[in-house]
Amino acid sequence: MLSVKHVSKAFDDQWVLDNVSLDVEVGKTQVILGPSGSGKSTLLRCMNLLEPIDAGAIWFSGQEISAQLDRAHLVRRELSMVFQHFELFPHLNALENIMLAPTRIKGMSRVEAREKAMVLLEKVRIADKASLYPDQLSGGQQQRVAIARALAMEPKVMLFDEPTSALDPEMVKEVLDVMTSLSEAGMTSVVVTHEMAFAREAAQRVVFMEQGRIVEDVDKDAFFSGNVGERAQLFMSNML
Ligand code: ATP
Ligand code: MG
Repeated sequence: MLSVKHVSKAFDDQWVLDNVSLDVEVGKTQVILGPSGSGKSTLLRCMNLLEPIDAGAIWFSGQEISAQLDRAHLVRRELSMVFQHFELFPHLNALENIMLAPTRIKGMSRVEAREKAMVLLEKVRIADKASLYPDQLSGGQQQRVAIARALAMEPKVMLFDEPTSALDPEMVKEVLDVMTSLSEAGMTSVVVTHEMAFAREAAQRVVFMEQGRIVEDVDKDAFFSGNVGERAQLFMSNML
């Protein structure tokens, strides 16, 4: 459904993505691992049309979306991205943060948007915080609101860029638990993370990047049974 085909991207004469190809399969969770600077965020940003590419193509639902940057806002309704820093709207409470896009962009009535937002807050396990503002919520709670906000547009794919790396350790699990539930419910997701336990539990495929290239793209079991090349093994041994 979402395919990255031979994509290359340079910043300041340096290739940051070098002939990257990746297929995102419906209903699966794909984890992207790799050292700092290997191009993981850039790849997600290109998939979400936040960065133009220099070569190759990105296809989604039968269309070459990378050739239609003027329609990027439409694509982003279906490919929803969650960032490391959740960036909620500070002047809106949790419920209103989630209601904003459905009412403004989809033209949903406030009554319906409110009902849906409450269901999403229950899904991310903070229904009791609906009326609190971002600065009254912990980091983990804010990130769960951000996930609910992304889900409110009913995207076909969720893209997560290190959603737990800015959180205090005790809050990481509550966010990963929500992501694992989404994955179990069959949400198509691409997750850049360093959380190996999450990859083991929730992923079906693991992609390993290095220096702008995809070095491994294998089934989770193959990856964790060590059935990968030297570079990925070295990375893994440094993680443990
Ligand atoms: P990390 O694990 O630290 O988040 P990453 O794998 O996500 O790393 P990217 O952020 O994709 O890596 O960066 C890949 C390379 O592209 C890096 O060398 C980075 O300096 C460079 N880069 C990223 N964004 C820009 C930009 N806007 N302008 C110039 N160079 C950039
Ligand atoms: Mg990154």
